[in-house]
Amino acid sequence: MKKEIICTVCPMGCRITVEGEGENIISVTGNICKRGEVYASAEFCHPVRILTTTIKTDNEKTPLVPVRSEKPLPKEKVMDCMEVIRKQVAKTPIAMYDVLVENICDTGINIVATGAVK
Ligand code: SF4
Repeated sequence: MKKEIICTVCPMGCRITVEGEGENIISVTGNICKRGEVYASAEFCHPVRILTTTIKTDNEKTPLVPVRSEKPLPKEKVMDCMEVIRKQVAKTPIAMYDVLVENICDTGINIVATGAVK
């Protein structure tokens, strides 16, 4: 299997092609530096994403608070995590970095506020 991955490690945005099967990587091409090879290899085997979205609050004046995952989540769990987040109503006051969803979808990763609501 061949996969084209755009490296997001630096603004150069190299288009890297990874060829392999499962966790067995045969070749990595298109990267300018070693960091790109490491990034593309990890992305090929275990793609992850930082999840950024909003959660409803119980405050009428500020009905949404921005949130993000503390760490990158496995890409295949992102939709499940969004389902959980959609059902949440966060109690105010909320401070920056408050944990609003603990251990989302048993990933060991928390969803934290990236804004504050009084
Ligand atoms: S491969 Fe290296 S130079 Fe290219 S985007 Fe990734 S980090 Fe930047």
